[in-house]
Amino acid sequence: MIIAVDGPTASGKGTISKRLAKHFALPFLDTGLLYRAVGWTLQQQGGDPDNPADALAACNFESSLLDDPALRSEDIGGLASRVSVHPPVRRALDKRQKDFAGQPGGAVLDGRDIGTVIAPDADVKLFVTASSEARAVRRFEEMKRRGQQVDFEDILADILQRDERDQNRATAPLKPAADAVLLDTTNLTIDAAIQQAIALVNAKTSGRRDKDPA
Ligand code: C5P
Repeated sequence: MIIAVDGPTASGKGTISKRLAKHFALPFLDTGLLYRAVGWTLQQQGGDPDNPADALAACNFESSLLDDPALRSEDIGGLASRVSVHPPVRRALDKRQKDFAGQPGGAVLDGRDIGTVIAPDADVKLFVTASSEARAVRRFEEMKRRGQQVDFEDILADILQRDERDQNRATAPLKPAADAVLLDTTNLTIDAAIQQAIALVNAKTSGRRDKDPA
């Protein structure tokens, strides 16, 4: 079973995807990390994120980089969003994602174009969303917990800018697949959102794949 989870930043899709993978005993790939690895590598190389050739040159990163916590910063997220607009970068990362999705038994992948481009035949497609304000509040609280100095308005502006870039790029823009189920987490706790996501997968697959019906 392939489960494709797409949605904007801070919608809760990462946490939901990880829990779906655990619940249904499937391997999980956070595809945003691949674009973040390109952004990080490009920064190390002193490249220009808006130059497709520089961005493509940063696609040859080692897989071990994906475990580096440095990839998870806001700055690298912004760079990832800039390098991900270039079609050659998307092509360079395509095979790795399609191979992961196509492994025997299936997988859970989260990203922006999983249901539309990477796994258009996925058994279940979820599009996880939330209002920009709710997402900014989550990001703000998360950064405060980590002891970072943050300004709410800056975070909201950053989220809006990232949405605008991801939704309006020419190649593989962020949008729900025609057959995706929408899950709006604006007014849900993360636990409630996870329970709804599990129920949606079970509804789509008639519960055939539920490894952990608890
Ligand atoms: O999901 P995450 O915030 O880690 O992704 C970082 C950026 O990588 C996104 O803003 C998006 O521009 C890009 N991305 C993408 N396609 C994916 C996953 C991420 O374009 N499948």
